Amino acid sequence: MSESQSNKIPIKQIDLDATKQRVHTRFVTGFYQNIRVASMYFFLALFLLLPWLRYDGRQAIWFDVPSQHYYIFGMTFLTQDFYFIAAFALIAAFTLFMVTVFAGRVWCGYACPQTIWTHLYQHIEKWVIGDRNKRIKFDKAPMSPTKVFKRSLVYLIWFILSVITAATFVSYVAGTEYIFGSWQMLGFIPFPDWPTWIWVSMFIFTFATYANAGYMREQMCIQICPYGRFQSVMFDKDTLIVSYDYERGEPRGPRKKGTNPDHLGDCIECTMCVQVCPTGIDIRDGLQVACIQCAACVDACNEIMDKVGYPRGLIRYTTER
Ligand code: SF4
Ligand code: SF4
Repeated sequence: MSESQSNKIPIKQIDLDATKQRVHTRFVTGFYQNIRVASMYFFLALFLLLPWLRYDGRQAIWFDVPSQHYYIFGMTFLTQDFYFIAAFALIAAFTLFMVTVFAGRVWCGYACPQTIWTHLYQHIEKWVIGDRNKRIKFDKAPMSPTKVFKRSLVYLIWFILSVITAATFVSYVAGTEYIFGSWQMLGFIPFPDWPTWIWVSMFIFTFATYANAGYMREQMCIQICPYGRFQSVMFDKDTLIVSYDYERGEPRGPRKKGTNPDHLGDCIECTMCVQVCPTGIDIRDGLQVACIQCAACVDACNEIMDKVGYPRGLIRYTTER
């Protein structure tokens, strides 16, 4: 791979509204995607269920800011113990940096909330509208009652998920009993009986979730996330990266089934690696800041290699060395 290729960063437009040029990801299965989906939904379940856990008669993890008591299972911290939190944050940050040096962007691909929620929101689109080709066609189609209905349904489900996310997030501070158990009647309609700070927090977290996972999506990773930006300084020749085997794949080109012409490399130019990429990039252009190393392109290309009878690993986890 030439140096100019490895430096190519295909950020063609700076527009944080990813819906204007939606990346319609083709969902793929495979070894890495199975690990990834298991990891992502494990963390999602953990986030949603932890506030419901009880320990010693109270919420097991509860950052009770109004009373300035912070409960983590059996331990109680007061505001003056905050240096523990600072120490914990430092340890977490340095652990993340160390993992990045060896394993690359595993956090981005397998555990980052932005990746998890974007994956979830894209699944909703797939469920309501259909697979990748149907979604592309749907976007291009003129406005019609079906289009309005399906789009509204997607937005409604996104909104409900955003409210659930916000309520869960705030319940770590306000307590689940207060968030989900305080109701008053407005006429015949039950309405949450929350103080202003909870309403404001709910609004901020609902808006942030909806905007990040529904609108900004991959633009969040490419344009905004500071971790995505500065981790390139943590990469060295031995860091694990997802990479296309340029020597083996080029010159790329389509061919008849069952043939392997001498003048062509192993890449059959099926573009499957691009279609499955959640950030819409082409890994064959080299290592890029937009690559969250989810390995979807690895699984997609392996599937193609199996079909055409070539060895797996044209795109694979490897190191620069
Ligand atoms: S999936 Fe593999 S064979 Fe297909 S275009 Fe990508 S690198 Fe080439
Ligand atoms: S290039 Fe491959 S590993 Fe990188 S984000 Fe796209 S699909 Fe994931």
